Amino acid sequence: MESVTFGVLTISDTCWREPAKDTSGPVLRQLIVETFANTQVIGNIVPDEKDLIQQELRKWINREELRVILTTGGTGFAPRDVTPEATKQLLEKECPQLSMFITLESIKQTQYAALSRGLCGIAGNTLILNLPGSEKAVKECFQTIRELLPHAVHLIGNDVSLVRKTHEEVQGSAPKGHICPNKTGTGTDSDRNSPYPMLAVKEVLSIIFNTVQKTTNLNKILLEMKAPVNIPPFRASIKDGYAMKSTGFSGSKRVLGCIAAGDSPNSLPLAEDECYKINTGAPLPLEADCVVQVEDTKLLQLDKNGQECLVDIMLEPQAGLDVRPVGYDLSTNDHIFPALDPSPVVVKSLLASVGNKLVIPNPRVAIVSTGSELLSPRDQLTPGKIFDSNTTMLTELLVYFGYNCMHTSVLCDSFEQTKESLLDIFEVVDFVICSGGVSMGDKDFIKSVLEDLQFKIHCGRVNIKPGKPMTFASRNDKYFFGLPGNPVSAFVTFHLFALPAIRFAAGWDRCKCSLSVLNVKLLNDFSLDSRPEFVRASVISKSGELYASVNGNQISSRLQSIVGADVLIHLPARTTDRPLAKAGEVFPASVLRFDFISKYE
Ligand code: AMP
Ligand code: MG
Repeated sequence: MESVTFGVLTISDTCWREPAKDTSGPVLRQLIVETFANTQVIGNIVPDEKDLIQQELRKWINREELRVILTTGGTGFAPRDVTPEATKQLLEKECPQLSMFITLESIKQTQYAALSRGLCGIAGNTLILNLPGSEKAVKECFQTIRELLPHAVHLIGNDVSLVRKTHEEVQGSAPKGHICPNKTGTGTDSDRNSPYPMLAVKEVLSIIFNTVQKTTNLNKILLEMKAPVNIPPFRASIKDGYAMKSTGFSGSKRVLGCIAAGDSPNSLPLAEDECYKINTGAPLPLEADCVVQVEDTKLLQLDKNGQECLVDIMLEPQAGLDVRPVGYDLSTNDHIFPALDPSPVVVKSLLASVGNKLVIPNPRVAIVSTGSELLSPRDQLTPGKIFDSNTTMLTELLVYFGYNCMHTSVLCDSFEQTKESLLDIFEVVDFVICSGGVSMGDKDFIKSVLEDLQFKIHCGRVNIKPGKPMTFASRNDKYFFGLPGNPVSAFVTFHLFALPAIRFAAGWDRCKCSLSVLNVKLLNDFSLDSRPEFVRASVISKSGELYASVNGNQISSRLQSIVGADVLIHLPARTTDRPLAKAGEVFPASVLRFDFISKYE
């Protein structure tokens, strides 16, 4: 949105007496500044007095640059709640649909939203919205309306060109072409903000899962698959011992020969006082029906060739003893997979066990690094250049999680070269995981190239630290992840977004695609950021309880913070009441590694 001023008016007797108790006002102000760069926000607190509320609102309505007023508080049923009454008398136009929209969305969170009487309307060229008083409710209401606000402001101000542009975008007819990442789309050169809305991690994941198509319906194929063979395919001995007839007896028996694993089942006659020496996994002679393990026998005699010829069977043989019947582990036509399990170890080994030659199709992935400063780690360092670590890191991460990297490219910051290379690469892969070139610099061409290649940019900014400019785009069944170039940002956003997308395409269930999450207790205090932060930390197990120690400086360029990083702790955004994550507090954390405990104490 172009530079406008917002007013946030807290309406509460309590907050008016004790301003420190006002949390909703500061939270709203912060949300506005985070969402709409270049905007000014002014704030004030008034008691629940109709005259005083109106006096403050009038002052703000008369200010030309003040285009939106959000009030918080005084919308309930208590005798002192008069915010809607005070607002109504100042409105020239009411906007009941806007209030209804807020209510409908809020009711999804709590039915008590039905007890808020907030109004929305227009006074002069100012939009006024009454929001409830609670911090949680104002946050939710703001999320509901934030995308509508710029268009509403443009309409009220009769900013024709901007209104037309929004209509075109909504109808999908916006002209394509080179988009300067420095512009918000308002059309003025002074506008230096990203045009992409800041999305929450959850929103981005849901966009990804709704966009990415599974490469095959592997789950269905696997669940329907039936065993073409029996395991075991013959009656197999469970022990090293002697195969015999259970109708016989204990005592001495003649040993007719030895049967090893891999021998074909023998069909020779077998008397009750005879037996065969047999190995684990070897097929029982057709006339035998039990095995007595070697520990329950005694060697009585060797023949002249040194072979066993007489043994003492020390226990009574019983039918079926130590024999695995045909199909005991898996029978022909049984389902091979009783349940879904995404582990390639599980899937591939079970398929191997029945001789199935199905090749599991995996998404084809390319790793692309952009930046004219990048040198191969094998090159000699020259002035102004740095070694490219992202190509290696992202390729190794793919391999770590069981996928192949089909192709790698390192591109310089050139619109044309990037466009041509991506075109070629997408001929042979389904996913490009790219790093660099998605931020606000004039050499950050990735988003423009994607637009030029007719990709739909689903996400151009995420409300996280590190990794804010993470970009996700698609065209038909081709998918592009533009990870920020800073190595740690690329590391974090690969785990949070690219990996789940690849797993989903590979046929994994949605709920299994993201990294596993467990709770850890913080060992250090940590200052919270204005964005939710994913902090690299080592896990220490103390008497079975998991603790996490933050891995030093978390600046996104410092790749060293991944050393010993077992988890990414999910820290919430800072609020006025909670500037700090304190030692001893418990937070969820995404598990980065299979062996995720660095230390036992
Ligand atoms: P960018 O996202 O392209 O603006 O890059 C942000 C920072 O990450 C810059 O300092 C780059 O030099 C650095 N960077 C970008 N790509 C890589 C890479 N492949 N390896 C190491 N550092 C990189
Ligand atoms: Mg760059």
